[in-house]
Amino acid sequence: MSQLTVGKDVLSYCTKCKLNLGHTIVAMKDVKHIAKVKCNTCGSLHAFKDPSQSSKQNKTRTKKTSITPSKVISVSDLWMEKMSNSKRKSTPYSMELKFSLGDIIDHSKFGPGIVEKVTNDKVEIIFRHEIKTLVHNKKES
Ligand SMILES: [Zn+2]
Repeated sequence: MSQLTVGKDVLSYCTKCKLNLGHTIVAMKDVKHIAKVKCNTCGSLHAFKDPSQSSKQNKTRTKKTSITPSKVISVSDLWMEKMSNSKRKSTPYSMELKFSLGDIIDHSKFGPGIVEKVTNDKVEIIFRHEIKTLVHNKKES
């Protein structure tokens, strides 16, 4: 391990060149800390700026703003949650019936499902593997 002393070369951020460049130590704060350096490129005297420390600070700053991963919920997860929360009895699906929000429907093809959205003539139902929009409230003419 080489000791830092006046006259030795170190890498420092140059305030004039705006780059990490080789500098010569001009003055020491104490045995471990450099006070002043002279840029080998432009020859200007300035305070020592540790290039490794300044880059570390920048990295942690950008990391903090990164997006937290959002949990992906699948249709079956949603279905499971909705079905377990509902205490209603299931009704066999028929397009003539009028369903309301939260109704449990037993569909001959898709199986059990729960009504998620209701419009005048259509219902959006969450089934085990897919979300379907079906006709309801169909008046027989
Ligand atoms: Zn310089």
